[in-house]
Amino acid sequence: MGDGMDFSLSDEQEVFKRNLREWCERKLFPRVKEIDEESKIPDEIIRDLANMGILGLTIPEEYGGSGLDFLTAALSVEEIARGDVSVATAVLVLLQQSWGYILSKYGSEELKEEVLPKVAKGEAFVGIGSTEPQGGSDLLSFKSTARKEDDSWVLNGEKVYISLVREVEERGGGFLTIVKTSPELEHRGFSMIFVPLSIDGVETTLFKNMGRTGVSTGGFLMKEARVPLNYLIGEENKGFYIAMEGFNVARILVAAACVGAASKALEIGMDYIKQRKLFGYPIGKFEGIQFQLSDNYAKLEASRLLVYKAAWICNQWMNGKADIMELAKASATAKLHAPIECYRIADDVMTWMGAFGYSKESEIQACVRGLRSYSVGAEGAQNVMRIIIARELLGKEFLPYKK
Ligand SMILES: Cc1cc2nc3c(=O)[nH]c(=O)nc-3n(C[C@H](O)[C@H](O)[C@H](O)COP(=O)(O)OP(=O)(O)OC[C@H]3O[C@@H](n4cnc5c(N)ncnc54)[C@H](O)[C@@H]3O)c2cc1C
Repeated sequence: MGDGMDFSLSDEQEVFKRNLREWCERKLFPRVKEIDEESKIPDEIIRDLANMGILGLTIPEEYGGSGLDFLTAALSVEEIARGDVSVATAVLVLLQQSWGYILSKYGSEELKEEVLPKVAKGEAFVGIGSTEPQGGSDLLSFKSTARKEDDSWVLNGEKVYISLVREVEERGGGFLTIVKTSPELEHRGFSMIFVPLSIDGVETTLFKNMGRTGVSTGGFLMKEARVPLNYLIGEENKGFYIAMEGFNVARILVAAACVGAASKALEIGMDYIKQRKLFGYPIGKFEGIQFQLSDNYAKLEASRLLVYKAAWICNQWMNGKADIMELAKASATAKLHAPIECYRIADDVMTWMGAFGYSKESEIQACVRGLRSYSVGAEGAQNVMRIIIARELLGKEFLPYKK
């Protein structure tokens, strides 16, 4: 019998993590307030991320990426979010790693050659265009359509609350967009089509968010917008299944971002409670604070283990050794647990820091606002994670909307 479980990282992963943490401490953390207040990730940060291979981490080497696995991707997103605790930079990175991977797996050769090398270099970005105004959780209610005409797909419809709209407009790239190609077939009638924002017939809007302001959130309206036939991702009418693969992967990375930001938040909090003296003692001496610290440490460790386990299952799935439903359950569990627990950790740290924590002088307020986004939406709402987990525990016949 073997040793069974092994919690250690490989030597390569340890070195990768250490080097990335050193860069994050030196280059990223000092700029959190600037990123949050100026609502922009500086160009040199994007350049460094590209040079370190972070943006193309899961993209195959033949398209300029590093072709690495999803545990390494999760480690990278965790470290990036430890650096930029507002989680904006982590959002940019995790979208490239998850949807860049889906594009590399299912895109046509021409589209991959056109887009992926630029994504790896930080010269273009990819994102996911799923949510519509009438409700992101209810895909069957989606109204966006595509029809084939001559050598094009003709697209109509509206996508809202989409991350990276401004960045894609400024640099290039596009969105893996979910549209109906055979509406009568319900979820079997969706396709995924790559939509750049620079084409005729596409209009964009931008929304203002309460947090993670370093990356934009916006929408795009498609009115008879045309893209070439080879912008179809995978097969026609398989878009729902391809999107689910992407969401499964992206949810692990979202949860990894939460773990990274919360672990830095807890460190900031520990430094603070050791030095802040009240009633003659550092407040870290009081059990009221210590018990919260220990509870938060346990929540953080639990979140991290769920992320690493889901990332490990994702690697198994990529190698054909795990079922997609096993991956769906593990990634939904990580995405259900980490965003809310990590938000609570950051919120407790802000409370320890009193008025300073609430002021824009501190990084922790940006962390609290940023982390909250992940339990509102972003790669699926929390109750949708619960529906996925219950579906796996009870069986598909218990899906609430299944007749
Ligand atoms: C910061 C941010 C960035 C985002 N980026 C992107 C992006 O890049 N691309 C993209 O496509 N989308 C993006 N989204 C949208 C996100 O995916 C959606 O917010 C999410 O899918 C939920 O959709 P909704 O906001 O329309 O809420 P709804 O679908 O209207 O849900 C509202 C509430 O109802 C709950 N609910 C849903 N179904 C049930 C049920 N059966 N039983 C009980 N409760 C239920 C949900 O949990 C939620 O709390 C982003 C969102 C945010 C906040």
